[in-house]
Amino acid sequence: MNTAEQYKDSLRARKIELWIDGVRVDEPLAHPKVAPAVEAVAATYALAHDPAHHGIATAFSDLTSRPVNRFVHLFRSTDDLVKKVLLQRELGRITGTCFQRCVGMDALNALFIATFEAGDVPHARFVRWLREVQQHDEMVCGAMTDAKGDRRKRPAEQPESFVRIVERRPDGVVIRGVKLHQTGAANAHQILVMPGQALRTGEEAFAIACAVPVDAPGVVMILGRQPSDDRKGTPDAGNVRYSGQQVVVAFDDVFVPSANVFLDGHLAAVSAMLDAFTGYHRASYGGCKPGNLDALIGAVAEVARLNGVERTPAVREKMIEMVHLTETIHGLGLAASHKSTRHAAGLWRVDALLANVCTQTVSRLPYEVVRLAEDLAGGLVSTMPSLADAAHPRLGPILANVMGSPERGRMLRLVEWFTSGAGSVPLRIECMHGAGSPMAQRIVIDRHADWAGKVRVARRLAGLPEV
Ligand code: SF4
Ligand code: FE
Repeated sequence: MNTAEQYKDSLRARKIELWIDGVRVDEPLAHPKVAPAVEAVAATYALAHDPAHHGIATAFSDLTSRPVNRFVHLFRSTDDLVKKVLLQRELGRITGTCFQRCVGMDALNALFIATFEAGDVPHARFVRWLREVQQHDEMVCGAMTDAKGDRRKRPAEQPESFVRIVERRPDGVVIRGVKLHQTGAANAHQILVMPGQALRTGEEAFAIACAVPVDAPGVVMILGRQPSDDRKGTPDAGNVRYSGQQVVVAFDDVFVPSANVFLDGHLAAVSAMLDAFTGYHRASYGGCKPGNLDALIGAVAEVARLNGVERTPAVREKMIEMVHLTETIHGLGLAASHKSTRHAAGLWRVDALLANVCTQTVSRLPYEVVRLAEDLAGGLVSTMPSLADAAHPRLGPILANVMGSPERGRMLRLVEWFTSGAGSVPLRIECMHGAGSPMAQRIVIDRHADWAGKVRVARRLAGLPEV
């Protein structure tokens, strides 16, 4: 298992094509908009070497017969799924942001199931690839969301809006298209490309799941902007060490050798992959989001203490509500994991109903926590001058009466970071749209709600005959 430093060194060996604000960046690790995101991923490597967290951060792999970082591990038991959520909560607390490695983890598990359903050859290819990923402890980015274009049209009617196969060669395929919202792509070693929606007969060219090295010829990355991202690397960032990352990844005629092609026209297996992935990732949010909210609640508690109001009943009441909402999300992530069932491929799958209810709460409750945080922290959260002003000999004495102590200034900046700065990306919009939008979750809830069972018990209680 790699250390955080080994991970960072391995990133330096890549030659990625990364663009930031219209400029090609050759040394991403030194860039202030990339470095904090690399630090957040590095935390996933560091934790595996922390004896206090060994139990949740590592697992024993039956593919390599060695311990591996949990982020490249297969979900071989209910315990694996529960520990995943506990690990995500811990890392959400440590980094206070998105640590970017879960999409790959959830995707490799989903593809293990999907390739099993696709047949012996795809599955053997995938297992061979996964074994190497485990041996090198790689960071895998999962690429699903296509541009989608006109939502009324199918992929075949607007192929340019979807990643697809554009050429077949004896030794592989050539893919073209763009994937959006790619969490941590510029900090990864490989990209697992997968379809983002179920596909029908005639859409086989879009039914491609494959692995692509981040620096394969033709892979172009464009860094997404985040609120206040020009502050990154400064005290005014709020979170002074970590940040998340999303990237637009273009596949500009990228050749993929056959050994790295896992699904190719397997329409039923694509649906199996989507079912498994959405379940896994929707339960994942029951880990990382509560972890981030812990840090926000801690910042608000500190502001309240420094304001001298931490025991005021109205303040306590709101603080308690923030905890209640946070633990509700976490409880659902854990419950979906505890209620898991075994798939024939030998992996355990989360309870789909509870996982989707989990993300449904994620699309709502953090917004209420953020509202309460803004209520308690006060207007200075969005009007406070720079911490550089507070350190200035002429301005410092003036601002001392505005910001209070330097700690209070930093805590207010951290609240700002979570509520409307770069930290609001994982805590707000991603809560709404990550792992699929709320309507997609409600469709799954409808499918798994056991309506007939509910009617049956109601009729029995009312003394009516069964129908
Ligand atoms: Fe992991 Fe959460 Fe980031 Fe998704 S949003 S990659 S689950 S930390
Ligand atoms: Fe996500």
